[in-house]
Amino acid sequence: MDELVSLCKRRGFIYQSSEIYGGLQGTYDFGPLGVELKNNLKRAWWESMVYENDNIHGLDSSILTNQLVMRHSGHEETFSDPMVDCKKCKSRFREDNITDNVCPSCGSNDLTESRPFNLMFKTNVGPVEDNANFAYLRPETAQSIFTNFKNILDTTSSSLPFGIAQIGKAFRNEITPRNFIFRVREFEQMELEYFVKPGDDEKAHDAWVQKRLDWWKNQGVPINKIELFEVPTDELAHYSKKTIDIMYEFPHGVEELEGIANRTDFDLGSHSKKQEELNINSKVLNNSDSNSRLAVKNEDGEWLVPYVIEPSAGVERGLLAVLNEAYNVETLEDNKTRIVLKLKPHLCPIKVAVIPLKKNDQQIVEKATKIKNIINSMSFGRVVLENTGNIGKSYRKHDEIGTPYCVTVDFETLDNESVTIRDRDSMDQTRINIENLNNFLQDNLNT
Ligand code: ATP
Repeated sequence: MDELVSLCKRRGFIYQSSEIYGGLQGTYDFGPLGVELKNNLKRAWWESMVYENDNIHGLDSSILTNQLVMRHSGHEETFSDPMVDCKKCKSRFREDNITDNVCPSCGSNDLTESRPFNLMFKTNVGPVEDNANFAYLRPETAQSIFTNFKNILDTTSSSLPFGIAQIGKAFRNEITPRNFIFRVREFEQMELEYFVKPGDDEKAHDAWVQKRLDWWKNQGVPINKIELFEVPTDELAHYSKKTIDIMYEFPHGVEELEGIANRTDFDLGSHSKKQEELNINSKVLNNSDSNSRLAVKNEDGEWLVPYVIEPSAGVERGLLAVLNEAYNVETLEDNKTRIVLKLKPHLCPIKVAVIPLKKNDQQIVEKATKIKNIINSMSFGRVVLENTGNIGKSYRKHDEIGTPYCVTVDFETLDNESVTIRDRDSMDQTRINIENLNNFLQDNLNT
């Protein structure tokens, strides 16, 4: 993990947030390469959900959330972790991080009983600071999908099964954020809520587990590094009938990458008005606050509250997994080593680096700039001009940040419109004509 963290900082993927003031625990900033990688991962998810499925629609909702949403979702009551205090050093821990009743920080065994600690952040809304005027920072993106159910149903004329997908920030006041970007207090989720007829839920759940495994494989996370874990009944979240966690072998151990839950009719049932007219199977709180009936009519004209399957993945955990898989240290023929980030081409922050052979040769640099602009207009993603004058160093740098192709422009280019393309993984160099660049990149970047 340390090597990966160091590469992320050195090359501008990920920095500690508020670093110049000593940092803010559990928060990270994504630098020039990190933001590209993150956007590419999110785009891959969005494409696989929204663009590839006519019955899945997108949403981008607000982060600030009405208290009532989190009350009726059950989060005010239950979204907590058991917390233990060390009476000696005053540190706080999640109970499951403590072994043999010993404080991990100072070794004392003078610890408090565990008590629930609600993980939701509150913030004041409006100019008056009092206990009534607060909103929650959403702890998951899911709830606003449920509260927008009727809006989306009506505006898209959808019928079951259909889904709503959302990518966005979520906030949890984790007791002990740790393991780099694995457990943080501010993160992004990629969540789908897939609504089905009750009775079709189990089949849909199985199908989504398989689809999500296939997707992770396409992002470069191999199946042999993944375990499926069925959460035992007594550990299930209050809304869940069954949850399968996709567990990945992170550098610090096997932990959850994504959870796929069968949330039954709990959420729509909880947020709905006139609950007594609906045949809700889950145990829900009485709701006299909502003004919307979150149900659909079945063939017989009766109200039916859909069941929902939720694949919910963390962007940061996804980044950690793809970076961990991509990170390779190779020994070369001359016994030197190179670090190479073998990211899948669609995830690479920079798709092509164009390198003039000579830094100060005006003709070569101008030609290289033209070629950079040509490749840029092909819209594969970020293309850079790397004018350091040191080809070897440029190759090493782009190996480390995962650039799949370097295009070198030299004197021959000026004569015959050909360039050298160097492949990141094989380090092979081939000469091709500029007019063939588009086809070459189409074939190799879109894999
Ligand atoms: P954990 O048991 O690890 O705390 P969870 O079961 O609470 O996770 P969910 O509520 O199922 O997590 O959230 C869905 C996904 O959101 C998780 O699979 C994970 O990828 C991501 N996630 C949840 N909490 C965090 C966090 N504190 N930091 C980063 N990602 C998170």
